[in-house]
Amino acid sequence: MSSGAFRSRWVRLTRPPADLASERRRSYQIFIHIYLFAIAAHLIYIPVFAAIDIVALSLLNLACIAANIVAIVLHRHGQCPQALLTKLVSATTLIIATGMALGDETGCEYFFFVLLFEVLISDLARRLKLLLSLLVISLILATEHLLFGTLGNWPYSSLSRELLYSLNVVVTFVLFTFIVLQVYAITETTERRFRIDATHDSLTGVLNRRAIFEKSERYWQAGHPFALLLLDADHFKFINDNHGHSVGDEVLRHLAQLLGRTLREADFIGRVGGEEFLVLLPDTSREEALGVATRLRNTLSGSPCRLESLDLAVTVSMGLALSSEGDKLRDVVDLADRRLYLAKSSGRDRLFAQGGESRETELGEGVTARLLHETPSADNA
Ligand code: GH3
Ligand code: MG
Ligand code: MG
Repeated sequence: MSSGAFRSRWVRLTRPPADLASERRRSYQIFIHIYLFAIAAHLIYIPVFAAIDIVALSLLNLACIAANIVAIVLHRHGQCPQALLTKLVSATTLIIATGMALGDETGCEYFFFVLLFEVLISDLARRLKLLLSLLVISLILATEHLLFGTLGNWPYSSLSRELLYSLNVVVTFVLFTFIVLQVYAITETTERRFRIDATHDSLTGVLNRRAIFEKSERYWQAGHPFALLLLDADHFKFINDNHGHSVGDEVLRHLAQLLGRTLREADFIGRVGGEEFLVLLPDTSREEALGVATRLRNTLSGSPCRLESLDLAVTVSMGLALSSEGDKLRDVVDLADRRLYLAKSSGRDRLFAQGGESRETELGEGVTARLLHETPSADNA
């Protein structure tokens, strides 16, 4: 099997079922890897015991492989405690049998520490975990002092015993290392996913409301100048009412994608309401922000949302405010919001980058008339 095919099979085997609760995915992946590592370790010992003529122990290793396969099947069917117990019982039997057959200086008791570690990192109920840990520790003591070496003795040269001892130490060490690395890697991936879920909007993939405001707050606290562009899709309710909610969702995804494509790498987009987005443009002057808005508007008008049976054109109204226009971040956001409102009330599909400084004047006849033509255009920029 090529390494690519092996890798894709490994990934398929270790991937948690799609419907598994997110808090259980980490443990699921870790233990699938533990069962696979255990199979690999048992495979090493089959020829070792065959070479020193202890076929019964080779067969017991084979039985442990079968037990780990059963554990994987149980684990994949959601019976995780049963899977772990199957593995623990088979491995304990093998350790005790090896110690009893070959004496107490082969180092096979080290594998108890791997089992103890597995119990401690498992998802078992705390009481069961404690009970099993005590059981494993008792077994370590009992086997060392009472059981090991009771039936057989090492029948070969002391050199070969030292070799087996070294092999056991190395395999225990490798198993520990693999499991710890796996726990670390899977924890990292899981945490990254949780972080992304906590900061991103699940429908559109852009930042969520809390994350975009936190980002803006950080720029504000650092005294870093920026522009805020608040956008709201026009007549979005009409799209929902006439084409259905799922088409509305598709349009929102399309809008977020276009925003992502049009803005610079350094800009941030967040969904702050149903069909409302906030764009943070660091180090951006009014003229540059007007340029961005113009580009966005042109891209939008040239790229309707393509659905199976129709092309849906969508327009947005925008309000722009600069960080230098407020004493607090809240003031800047409110200003962008009032300008967005002015854009809506003066006909939609346009940008307001000025006006709305006070609530009293925002709807005044004069102001509205003065700002009516403030659409994003080259003249404006
Ligand atoms: P205006 O031009 O004044 O902004 O009008 P509008 O219809 O866009 O605004 P309105 O606030 O009346 O309607 C917004 C609609 O957006 C209503 C709500 O059901 C819809 N909406 C909010 N969140 C979602 C969503 O996640 N998916 C879909 N499909 N629709 C949403
Ligand atoms: Mg709207
Ligand atoms: Mg709205």
